[in-house]
Amino acid sequence: MGGAAVGYALAKAGRRVLFIEKGFSQFSQDEDDPDTFDETMRLRNGRWPQQISGMVDNQSVRFFPALGCGAGGSTLLYAAALERFSPGDFQATDELGEPAWPIDYEGLEPFYRLAERLLQVRGSQDPLQPEADVIDPPVMTRCDQYFFDSVQSNGMHPYRVHTACRYVEDCSQCGGAICHKSCKQDARHAFIEPALATGNAMIVDQCNVEKIEAGKGEVTELLCRRNGKALTFTAKRYVLAAGALSTPLLLLNSRNELWPNGVANTSDLVGRNLMFHVSDFFAVWPRGRMRVSTPGKSIAFRDFYEYQGLKFGVIQSTGLTATSRNILHFLKSIIDRQGWIWLKPLKPLMRIPAAIGAFISGKATIFASILEDMPYPENRVKPNPQEPDRIFFEYTVHAELRQRIKAFRRLYRQAFKRHRMMVLGSEVNLNFGHACGTCRFGTDPSTAVLDVNNRTYDLPNLYIVDASFFPTSGGANPSLTIAANALRVGAYIAEELATKICV
Ligand SMILES: Cc1cc2nc3c(=O)[nH]c(=O)nc-3n(C[C@H](O)[C@H](O)[C@H](O)COP(=O)(O)OP(=O)(O)OC[C@H]3O[C@@H](n4cnc5c(N)ncnc54)[C@H](O)[C@@H]3O)c2cc1C
Repeated sequence: MGGAAVGYALAKAGRRVLFIEKGFSQFSQDEDDPDTFDETMRLRNGRWPQQISGMVDNQSVRFFPALGCGAGGSTLLYAAALERFSPGDFQATDELGEPAWPIDYEGLEPFYRLAERLLQVRGSQDPLQPEADVIDPPVMTRCDQYFFDSVQSNGMHPYRVHTACRYVEDCSQCGGAICHKSCKQDARHAFIEPALATGNAMIVDQCNVEKIEAGKGEVTELLCRRNGKALTFTAKRYVLAAGALSTPLLLLNSRNELWPNGVANTSDLVGRNLMFHVSDFFAVWPRGRMRVSTPGKSIAFRDFYEYQGLKFGVIQSTGLTATSRNILHFLKSIIDRQGWIWLKPLKPLMRIPAAIGAFISGKATIFASILEDMPYPENRVKPNPQEPDRIFFEYTVHAELRQRIKAFRRLYRQAFKRHRMMVLGSEVNLNFGHACGTCRFGTDPSTAVLDVNNRTYDLPNLYIVDASFFPTSGGANPSLTIAANALRVGAYIAEELATKICV
């Protein structure tokens, strides 16, 4: 998302832009299987080609990540819920009690507005938050109206979720896969295609950036590989946007004599403070004998975003029902993410409990929660000597997170009181699709990798605009904030190039 948005801003400002993308820029509509090991098939469907590995609470895990690969990045697969962070998120403090965000909500607000317009965000105003620039959505399905009224009668303040979904008929399932019906606005449609249309931008796809060459004061070139062939690119400004897992890996793998700890890593913070949200998926049944079907992914509420001094997050409907296919997907992903290696051979048999689950759950609708994660330096991405080119991370679930998970579950149960509910997942459901924080921005070079304009403190011609820059993870979906900030940085770089106010 970040790379597409900054490239759009620069191309629109008349600057020449080259997008370098590991995956494809055109995608097939053939068979798509999120579990396949076939790397070409994965790339053809916008999926990250390899498994990633890590240690969660000292237990090893290895799985195909919820990450996109191709022009548009992870937004190819995203569910397109585009919510702003709340003004309070920008007032968070760091471990020293200093402001964690070097910009405030008001500074980002014009770019939130621009991002909402470009991504054609639909929804209604959240009564608990400042106004957003959203288009009226179509009427809710009967099912969503039923749940909307029900949570409202339980004292919540629901609103129509903000989404870059055009609600095209017969297209309710494009979350988790590329949308071929022009329903979901992803970064490819909203930013890359319009950037290319200016004539100022070009894209080189199937091109993996392998190393950033840097001298003492600047990046000098990018070493890349395209279909086995080595390529080198040079530019005036380099904007890195490989995602919060790949960006730090690339910087750390680019170490040389001048940068023994990795490029732009004087602070030793590259890769650290890795955050994921915790996202529960939970089934909610209508009350009594009520029969409702066809959920439409249209409800959200933020009553517990900040509650009694604690940070929680947003609750959203997903548009999914508890079918055996959906339950099967949850069961398989739990096995992968929990590192239950002994259960992996049984994965094909999971269809049986999934079918039983679907039978028992009947007409349940699935909601999702997003719980803010906090930054800890020891939670990090770092190269694994055995597989230096593959993503590897270490993550410890801190006691305070476990406590907030429990407290949040108690709270959202209240929102659905008098409904039967079941959390589909385990004790801690880390949302690996929402990685952020691994090259944070801030006002102090000893506690941040990037300055207020997302420029690396170490190398004035290197910027980073993906989710790595987040100093805190907020309690809402990350993409709108990534896009808004990248548009802000794009405007800054265009201005900087025009006035040559710096080297
Ligand atoms: C299934 C799913 C559902 C989601 N739903 C939502 C949602 O509803 N709302 C929301 O806000 N967010 C959602 N997200 C998260 C959101 O998509 C990401 O937070 C966001 O796209 C991250 O943007 P980014 O710029 O950090 O990185 P990305 O969008 O991931 O872009 C990184 C790009 O860099 C490329 N790249 C990586 N390494 C290299 C390399 N070495 N050389 C060249 N190119 C490289 C990748 O191929 C990719 O195109 C979802 C994610 C997933 C996977």
